[in-house]
Amino acid sequence: MQTHTTQSSASQSETAENITITVALGDGIGPEITQATLSILAAAGARITPEFIDIGERVYLAGHSSGIHPAAWDTLRRNKVFLKGPITTPSGSGYKSLNVTIRKSLGLYANVRPCISYAPFVSTLHPSMDVVIIRENEEDLYAGIEHRQTDEVYQCLKLITRPGCEKIIRYAFEYARSHGRQKVTCMVKDNIMKMTDGLFYKVFQEIAPDYPDIKTERFIIDIGSAKLATRPAQFDVIVTLNLYGDIISDIAAEMTGSVGLAGSANIGDHVAMFEAIHGSAPDIAEQGIANPSGMILSAVMMLIHLRQADIATQIHNAWLTTIEEGIHTSDLQGSQSQQIVGTAAFAEAVIARL
Ligand code: NAD
Repeated sequence: MQTHTTQSSASQSETAENITITVALGDGIGPEITQATLSILAAAGARITPEFIDIGERVYLAGHSSGIHPAAWDTLRRNKVFLKGPITTPSGSGYKSLNVTIRKSLGLYANVRPCISYAPFVSTLHPSMDVVIIRENEEDLYAGIEHRQTDEVYQCLKLITRPGCEKIIRYAFEYARSHGRQKVTCMVKDNIMKMTDGLFYKVFQEIAPDYPDIKTERFIIDIGSAKLATRPAQFDVIVTLNLYGDIISDIAAEMTGSVGLAGSANIGDHVAMFEAIHGSAPDIAEQGIANPSGMILSAVMMLIHLRQADIATQIHNAWLTTIEEGIHTSDLQGSQSQQIVGTAAFAEAVIARL
């Protein structure tokens, strides 16, 4: 069995106090995978008390164009830790992406997305994928500055700031150092966007000498993505801009076997949010077949953040054992699968292995 001592736990003292966290079940498959994850947290004795908020589709359709009740912000700011199910942004103009609003309003500048192959236990495009994508989370084309110039011309501005670059790039190096990783690769398109992407890489070059123990590398995003697809073992930590990071992390997660496998942390100076990288998957909602793994692994990251690495390690090892024994949800179906189960049964299998 591939046991795992959860990284970054060694230097941290454990906290014994019970901590209130904010939880949103989300839309589509959100309630199924979040409830499954909460049941595992409860069974493992995680020292947390969930306080639920309602966000997403129902709130949008009730007339709040941002998808969140004003009072929910107080809960988020008070509790400081947020476990969030995926949400649906209704199509059509007038509805702002709540994900982007939350990340910007709470200053969640670093989006950390580990994409790991669990070969030989899960069919994967690349058995050697073990990459952490660190995506800038507040700026770039997601800054929300879009204009209609004429009926035929629309404009979206790309916003990149020096403080924004400094924060995310330093975070990536600190992450690499504290997680025993060897190299940070910067991915940009600075041959074309010389000022915006150029600034990002310039700051990368300025900060890198502070970390002589970490190797560095730079790729233009297009060829870098192609290399990631064919030779993922060449990569360790990747730091990149918001849009590029969003795209390559979905691809990297899918390459490990399923987009349903990857969790993420959204880290700010005061608040942190943990969520699966995928969306609300309306095509499989309410069928009880969604893979809760991305949400479970997000919760593992949350427990490390809460300094409950003992519980995090216990859950992570139970999850690994479940996967290794071939107990899979249908998105992972392959020759290694011994039993295909639904969302709730997968959670029960993890609980049985705690
Ligand atoms: P998606 O990630 O929801 O689904 C893409 C594909 O992956 C679908 O075929 C889906 O069935 C599959 N999939 C996703 N998660 C899975 C899981 N856990 N188990 C098994 N299969 C899974 O992307 P989409 O369809 O483009 O978006 C649907 C909605 O989600 C949209 O409204 C979008 O805005 C929203 N979204 C939300 C978030 C978030 O809340 N963080 C992120 C991305 C997309």
